[in-house]
Amino acid sequence: MSSTALEDDSVPGQAAARPGGRTAGEARFDDVPLGEEWHSPLYAMACRQFARAADVLALEDELRTRLLEPRRSLVCNFPARMDNGEVINYTGYRVQHTLAMGPTKGGLRFAPDLGFGECAALAMWMTWKCSLAGLPFGGAKGGVRCDPHALSAGEMERITRRYTAELLPIVGPDMDIPAPDMGTSEREMAWFYDTYSQSVGYSVPAVVTGKPVALGGTIGRHDATGLGVVFSIESAFEELGWSLPESSFVVQGFGNVGSVAARELHARGGKVVAVSDIRGAIANPHGLDIPAVLRWVDEHYYLEGFPDAEPVSGEAMLELDCDVLVPAAREEQITERNADRLKCKLVVEGANGPTTPAADRILSDRGISVVPDILANSGGVIVSYFEWVQSHQKYSWQALEVQERLRTQMRSAYDRVRGAAVELGVDNRTAALASAITHVSEAAKLRAIYP
Ligand code: NAD
Repeated sequence: MSSTALEDDSVPGQAAARPGGRTAGEARFDDVPLGEEWHSPLYAMACRQFARAADVLALEDELRTRLLEPRRSLVCNFPARMDNGEVINYTGYRVQHTLAMGPTKGGLRFAPDLGFGECAALAMWMTWKCSLAGLPFGGAKGGVRCDPHALSAGEMERITRRYTAELLPIVGPDMDIPAPDMGTSEREMAWFYDTYSQSVGYSVPAVVTGKPVALGGTIGRHDATGLGVVFSIESAFEELGWSLPESSFVVQGFGNVGSVAARELHARGGKVVAVSDIRGAIANPHGLDIPAVLRWVDEHYYLEGFPDAEPVSGEAMLELDCDVLVPAAREEQITERNADRLKCKLVVEGANGPTTPAADRILSDRGISVVPDILANSGGVIVSYFEWVQSHQKYSWQALEVQERLRTQMRSAYDRVRGAAVELGVDNRTAALASAITHVSEAAKLRAIYP
């Protein structure tokens, strides 16, 4: 008997004979299925959300295992020279969740507590986000464990360039296309683009999105996520028969996503009654003058001290009276500790993973609807996709074209989610995930298993 035949004979129900391997259906859905290095509350949360949607779809075991576990990942420890001559070792990650949909796409996060599990959760959410938006990408996420606020521009450049070099075997314009995330911006994307291009010997603008416009970045990328959040609010309002100028909003986080969302809501006549940043919140029940708040932040960096508003704690602002709460700061902000005290009627998630599964259940019991992250904040990756297309074509679109295409694509994703929610009788998050998972699992099934 050949050794192949022996292996084949041992397959059914013999997982214990293959330590570390997992047969179809052995992945655990109540927690992280992989080794210790993957564990994080965020990845456990992404796994639980996936399990709920997979149950609704009665997804077969083989596909559950294949779609739950990240397909490919890289971890690297590399040295970088600091301005004072000292050499510090940094850890970088890149997780590519599924390769079934085409190249992978997702941001680079530079943060002091970054880990494998966090990257895995964010990569998985990127897969569902891209699928829901109808983009030809699987999800990815990566970054470097470092504190960007404690590094000079020169140190950031050396870390970014070395990290890019470490990623060369698994990134490329048709392989994996990074973009900015927390702690990185168009400056780092310019360095990434240049380092990659130096390594292959010619310019490859499609290797990264979120580039400066002068380097082939697209007009409208900076505002895309916040604007997309507002497009989602407009879709929900149209369905609910609510009027934006008669409604009040609380926006948590006043960075890229939150400040643009607040600005666009104010510009449409909405009453933004509170906004916050890492230091705390400011509130005015008559509505904040958002253009004045933006000027204040330009000058003072933080919201604190803004006149014509009351200071409020970051926790209390989430519980203020309003029609719509837009969490646009960080993950795990609406939890079982505060979900029963929220006074909003609708939550529209600008941030990734701001609501825990336990809080989801409480909000659902209280009749508070949620427009989930993979739908509400997909504007960024949709416009990133537009940038990638333009970089490939060496052709630039006008601002109006970018905005109208974004509006159309987000609208059809919203309709798809609401259609699935009604058809399956589930909440919006489960419907969004179910719709996205259906598409990805169909692709994975059609591509089958190699060899
Ligand atoms: P950012 O760094 O530009 O802004 C974050 C803001 O949140 C800052 O104002 C910061 O002070 C504030 N903040 C941080 N911790 C806070 C806390 N505990 N309470 C209140 N405020 C706090 O980041 P961003 O790009 O606006 O991203 C915000 C969220 O949106 C993240 O979850 C990110 O993953 C998600 N997101 C961003 C994009 C994008 O295109 N930028 C796309 C999709 C999702």
